Amino acid sequence: MRERTFYPHKCPHCNKTFEASGKPVPGMTIYCKQCTQLLMKIKTLERKLQQDASLIQKEDAEIAEQINNLLVRENISEKDQQIVTALTKKLKVDEKRRKKILKEIKKLQKEEK
Ligand SMILES: [Zn+2]
Repeated sequence: MRERTFYPHKCPHCNKTFEASGKPVPGMTIYCKQCTQLLMKIKTLERKLQQDASLIQKEDAEIAEQINNLLVRENISEKDQQIVTALTKKLKVDEKRRKKILKEIKKLQKEEK
């Protein structure tokens, strides 16, 4: 059985020195365990945000169309007015959700230091 050799590496993210198997290769980035976990967390959140954004964008377009369809009518009934209000509210809720995820990412990025 071959012994595993550990070499000192410098994390490009936190600048800490750590040991890892495998010689440091110029141009190849190896992060320390902590930063790897942190960066993975950030990536997962960013992916979630992206998925969310594309989903919301589609929903946004649908909602905008619904609002538009209601507004082009000559006489907007009270019920239509309520629907418009409800749809507008929904757009705001989605916006909040997006901002919440962005905040989480920013918080994680602050922890890096
Ligand atoms: Zn690090």
